[in-house]
Amino acid sequence: MPRLPEDLPELLERVRAETAGSVGTGKVADYIPALASVPADRFGLAVATVDGQLHGVGDWRERFSIQSISKVFGLALTLGLDGDRLWQRVGREPSGDPFNSLVQLELEHGIPRNPFINAGALVVTDRLLSVTGDPVGAVLALLRGEVGDDGFGVDPLVAESEAAHGDLNAALGYFMSAHGNMDNPIRIVLDHYFRQCAIAMSCGELAQAALFLARHGTLRDERRLLSEVQAKRINAIMLTCGAYDAAGEFAYRVGLPGKSGVGGGILAVVPRLCTVCVWSPGLDDQGNSIAGVAALERFAQLTGSSVF
Ligand code: GLN
Repeated sequence: MPRLPEDLPELLERVRAETAGSVGTGKVADYIPALASVPADRFGLAVATVDGQLHGVGDWRERFSIQSISKVFGLALTLGLDGDRLWQRVGREPSGDPFNSLVQLELEHGIPRNPFINAGALVVTDRLLSVTGDPVGAVLALLRGEVGDDGFGVDPLVAESEAAHGDLNAALGYFMSAHGNMDNPIRIVLDHYFRQCAIAMSCGELAQAALFLARHGTLRDERRLLSEVQAKRINAIMLTCGAYDAAGEFAYRVGLPGKSGVGGGILAVVPRLCTVCVWSPGLDDQGNSIAGVAALERFAQLTGSSVF
């Protein structure tokens, strides 16, 4: 079992210093125009521990668009509220394809490979709509409850921008509907999906919000959202599918369950110990933050916290 060093702030400073060279490299996501104006030179890193510490360096209090990181919380809620029914409609295998690819979905008759590619997350949102009536509201309530703060929410400009440039996601939704894998009107599912992706949070907030995954399913107030087995399984899917078609490389370099988003954030879980969230907007070709992966790789090395 890895142990975090006594002086966590010093460790985070060291990670930051040693990965500073990659900050600003890569390309800020611009297929969602509202994200294109985010400065590429930002870098934030935060760690929240299961024993209640929270530390950060750099821009760790600045809010950014969480994008696909929201998929983790949607999945956790759906499994927690509705059990394993979801798995009849979505798989658990890495896709090896870009997160918004249509090709595989056609070959596999409208069943998305996993819940962390866009098609899979649309199925999760559809199910959460049937179960709660308000998926984005349910995700926000979970996030706010776990952080203990309701000062963050959906960035309406990003949500609008996503909707205005969301034809590919709409195509995924309608395609799955044609295969009988959507229960609700696609435009409503898309609206919730876009707003969920457009939630803006800081590294510190995201690290705190995800601690239930390091605690194997137990929320801040000690209620259980997930069984231990369910939490383990979400961590497993993060490890195998959390970084799109670079999930293998992420496991190879970092060795932790992680979920990235095209806003430049990556959330990682060290089971039983802590969560780590990093943000830097410059992305590689697969849509993962270049400095973010570098920082998590260094963090895992210095702390010996890889699960392998
Ligand atoms: N909102 C983005 C999309 O639907 C999320 C993608 C991502 O972060 N990978 O394309």
